[in-house]
Amino acid sequence: MTGELATNPALLKLDLYCQGLRLDESCFIEEDGGRKILRTRAGLGSGLELILPGELWTNAPVSEPFAARSPYTLHRERGRYWLRHEGRDVVPVRLSPRPNWYEAATSTGKPMTRIGTLQGTYLGIYQAKVCEYWTQKPTKVNCKFCSVGLNLGVDDADEKSVEEVMEVIRAARAESGITYVDFNTGHYEGDTYLDILEPFIVRIKQELGLLVGVQTPPHRDLKRYDHLREIGVNRVSFCFEIFDRELFEEICPGKHAEYGLDFYLEAIRYCATLGAKGPADEPWVTNGEIIAGLEPPESSIRAIDWITSVGAIPTVCVFRPLVGTDLEDHEPPRTEDMVPIFRRLYESTMEAGLPIGCAPNIHVSLVMLPEECRYLSPRRYLWQSAKLGVMKRVFARRFDRKLRETESRAAASA
Ligand code: SF4
Repeated sequence: MTGELATNPALLKLDLYCQGLRLDESCFIEEDGGRKILRTRAGLGSGLELILPGELWTNAPVSEPFAARSPYTLHRERGRYWLRHEGRDVVPVRLSPRPNWYEAATSTGKPMTRIGTLQGTYLGIYQAKVCEYWTQKPTKVNCKFCSVGLNLGVDDADEKSVEEVMEVIRAARAESGITYVDFNTGHYEGDTYLDILEPFIVRIKQELGLLVGVQTPPHRDLKRYDHLREIGVNRVSFCFEIFDRELFEEICPGKHAEYGLDFYLEAIRYCATLGAKGPADEPWVTNGEIIAGLEPPESSIRAIDWITSVGAIPTVCVFRPLVGTDLEDHEPPRTEDMVPIFRRLYESTMEAGLPIGCAPNIHVSLVMLPEECRYLSPRRYLWQSAKLGVMKRVFARRFDRKLRETESRAAASA
């Protein structure tokens, strides 16, 4: 297997998610410019940020007990970092660079990393207070894999003003060259999450022209997504996590009681139709997000095929049993069970002709992107790949022009 791991970066990324990584004492992650291990974004990002061959960015589990049994170790030797599997070198890897702004504070004195953190090459912001499923009385109804209620106040600031967020985005744009900002919220009584996020989105679009995405529960008034489309949002993402109805109810009791699986699916179906509406110069994608490893692989595959059938793009995470969560004693999934799911992710998105891999400079460490999964499939989709290549170049040119125009307009009005 070591041979295949050396030549197939998607298999390596997947296997690291499932088995984790141990750090040899020769590693000096922060001294060598790597990123500190932060628990963020529903806790899925609890690990070490690395760049694998093929420019696949990843977040390898290191803090969970299963990682202590991993066949993988990271070594610093001959002036670089090496991944070893069962004691044998597999590939050299790079530490995802830690920017200087990670050490900086906002003008209000908050550490910038408590406002937002890089996840791969984009900026992720968990906006607003803790998800109310964690504080519901008499019994909390949080999703059982989630660690957001454990994280907040540790790695995230609970109050984040527009000015503070803009300051961090500017720093991340200037130094890390980010092109995309992703906002993430939990559930709040009265569906206030979009009201909270819209002022941030308007400012980013007006002053920086960056791509912006939102990941929130499905707002009960679906017309709100028409408005998001109008103000230039580029991505909406709905995490229903599990396609199997019984497991959804058991693992996501708050989502089940508040919205129900069918409403998540309806929101995805509805939003996927909004691409044809303007503004024509703002790309639009709808994602349905699931966690592989919490239900049988066939069910995850059914979810992927359903999502692509309505014109949305699946985001598939690998279940990570995080310390402190309700599922902390569960085993992570087995790589061999994950491979068919991620192979189908690539094939299903290509067969549906969906625009994957077109956004500029976006590498995601917390999930396997559909286009990364091409290494897991024998199918080549030559015509569709060529079309995506052209779309990517056209989009990069347009995006560059738009960024320059927005920046010079903002500078002129400052
Ligand atoms: S909705 Fe579920 S996954 Fe999202 S923050 Fe709340 S408890 Fe966590």
